[in-house]
Amino acid sequence: MALDRRADFRVALLKQKFSFWANHLSKTLLPLLLRMLSFFVFNFPLQRIIMTSNPLLEPYDLPPFTRIQAEDVEPAIDAVLMNNRRRIETLLEKAEPRTWSSFVDVLTELEECLERVWSPVQHLNAVANTQALRAAYNTCLPKLSAYQTELAHNIRLYAGWKSLAASSEYRDFSPVQQKIINDTLRDFHLGGVALPPEKKERFAHIQQELSILQAHFEENLLDATQAGYLDVTDPAQLKGLPPSALMQAEQAARQVEQSGYRITLDFPAYHAVMSYATRRELRQQVYIAYVTRASDLGSFADRYDNSQLMHDILRLRQEEARILGFGNFAELSLETKMAGSPAQVLDFLCDLAHRTRSAAEGELAELRSFAAAELGLDKLEAWDVAYASERLREHRFMLNDEMLKPYFPVDGVLAGMFELTSRLFNIYIQPGPEVEVWHPDVHFYEIRDVKGELCGQFYLDLYARPHKRGGAWMDECLSRYRRGHQLQHPVAFLTCNAAPPVGKQPALFTHDEVVTLFHEFGHGLHHMLTRVDYPQVAGIREVEWDAVELPSQFMENWCWTSEGIDLIGRHYQTGEPLPQSLRDSLLASRDFQAGMQMLRQIEFALFDMRLHLEYDPAQPTDIQALLNEVRSTVAVLKPPSCNRFQHSFTHVFAGGYAAGYYSYKWAEVLAADAFSRFQEEGLFNPLIGQAFLHKILERGGARPAAELFRDFMGRPPRVDALLRQYGLEEVSR
Ligand code: ZN
Repeated sequence: MALDRRADFRVALLKQKFSFWANHLSKTLLPLLLRMLSFFVFNFPLQRIIMTSNPLLEPYDLPPFTRIQAEDVEPAIDAVLMNNRRRIETLLEKAEPRTWSSFVDVLTELEECLERVWSPVQHLNAVANTQALRAAYNTCLPKLSAYQTELAHNIRLYAGWKSLAASSEYRDFSPVQQKIINDTLRDFHLGGVALPPEKKERFAHIQQELSILQAHFEENLLDATQAGYLDVTDPAQLKGLPPSALMQAEQAARQVEQSGYRITLDFPAYHAVMSYATRRELRQQVYIAYVTRASDLGSFADRYDNSQLMHDILRLRQEEARILGFGNFAELSLETKMAGSPAQVLDFLCDLAHRTRSAAEGELAELRSFAAAELGLDKLEAWDVAYASERLREHRFMLNDEMLKPYFPVDGVLAGMFELTSRLFNIYIQPGPEVEVWHPDVHFYEIRDVKGELCGQFYLDLYARPHKRGGAWMDECLSRYRRGHQLQHPVAFLTCNAAPPVGKQPALFTHDEVVTLFHEFGHGLHHMLTRVDYPQVAGIREVEWDAVELPSQFMENWCWTSEGIDLIGRHYQTGEPLPQSLRDSLLASRDFQAGMQMLRQIEFALFDMRLHLEYDPAQPTDIQALLNEVRSTVAVLKPPSCNRFQHSFTHVFAGGYAAGYYSYKWAEVLAADAFSRFQEEGLFNPLIGQAFLHKILERGGARPAAELFRDFMGRPPRVDALLRQYGLEEVSR
């Protein structure tokens, strides 16, 4: 099977900007301008500043995207790292007792300087990738990694934090400040500060290697995705594809100055073929091209194969964990999460699998008999599953994406989503001022509270295009940060990969694309509505990885309510609301194949957890064999042997979800449970909306997620609401 839609399309790649232990450094009381000025004066002859202005080093309110060039990147990073090293050295040379203002504030500010340079670069590398930018980005990765490791291993810095924790001042710190100190000390420990010199050196080397290997894994996938395509001249070959997908394919061909149609391996194109193409051979061909991307199979196996990279990454992660005294990488990963141990996670997943299995088996049996009876598919192959499922869905609910899309035009969906958040949280979203962007499709918005005060701003980049990474994600551009009386408001990047508008028609979203947008917007709200003034724990920072999907999955729920649909679903030509029959069908369809979907997520999560729990560098685990074994215990659908899902599992091999993919399900339990309070006490009940805002969204990582959740719900989380949400409740009894 290809990576399923939830995983691949609704990606929440909350990129950790730097390794986690580096998240706790910096701040000065000087305003930004003075800081940058002093930085230049100390580090550059004035003439050189004038001669070689670097947009990344200029103070900015928002990044100067149109002026950033690949050649600016390395000099800017070099300059910031040099300055930071010098400032830290000066700080540590002072013998005075460590205080918050003389120590933490300075370090916070230094980290902010680095973020301001690196965040736009990292973002551009993901959404406007060029060879030159990629090269510059990759040149900087080892430098950043070396810097972070240096800080993480700096005994004097560590001693500074320890002395702050032991100081008489500590008692007077706010709980948030105390948490920052304790999190930092924990991260120092995880960063290997207490290691003997030879181990420390090895540890640093591993960090550098991993950052390079993981970036390489992702590049291979991006390149393999772009390299693979199918040119078709006869439209009859594409029978069944909806008009929008055909136009997309035509547009893709035109972009390379060809006639006919080009089927790319971008997710929307792949998804359209798998769901709609009536020619089985076409589905098979595209399926195989897609599921063998970046693997030892397929047309580009000699160029973009991730096989060895996976082993190298796993080997280094295990070594890293053992150097730190953990038994394996899974234990290291859980050290900073809400779940207590790998065993607890495995139990959680197996329990969910157990409760879901018979429902999934029933769904598959139904699909098989439908495919045989109605579609003449006696043996259901992997490339038939989405197609047959879509036909069954249409048959049962009289519903398909194409019927719904005219009701979800981009402007209507955005207006409805903004209206909804306004009613829930008493905030207002409107287009922001004109700012520099990296592509004409990108728009900029701002969020204000009821008094008109600015809360946060965001860039919205909705459509798939060449040289943009697949999936959808939220990333931080700037974090909330108070320096004395001066407040920096948070700014987010919200990125999706929906099918772009074709011709003069506005972009029309599938319901799934709408859900994806709500998901990322949920992350964005978490980042932008925070009231925490310390960037170390503001927004999504220091929120446990397995709780960070709570606001995002919570927001998805509104796309599955009649009240939510009322706000977002209007026909793009007539303005008519979504007809009742379609609406009923859509809402009823949420349960469709819920058991099978659940099991697939559990399969990915179990595979990830066991891989990082069991991988033995001395006798490298056969990754495919382990995946097969996991499938044999939980999956009802077995993909063909050519399937190389693992080779494109970027969450785990390139993102922050290593030994953490279970987080989606874990947080989904929290999200469904929290949403059940709205269902019980009123979907738009302002008191509940305010409670969610004040007790969860605004609090960021200032307190442990379990406490925030208890604070909102008045009790610990329960799994019932999630099972109920998917109609699996009966099965569990
Ligand atoms: Zn997410």
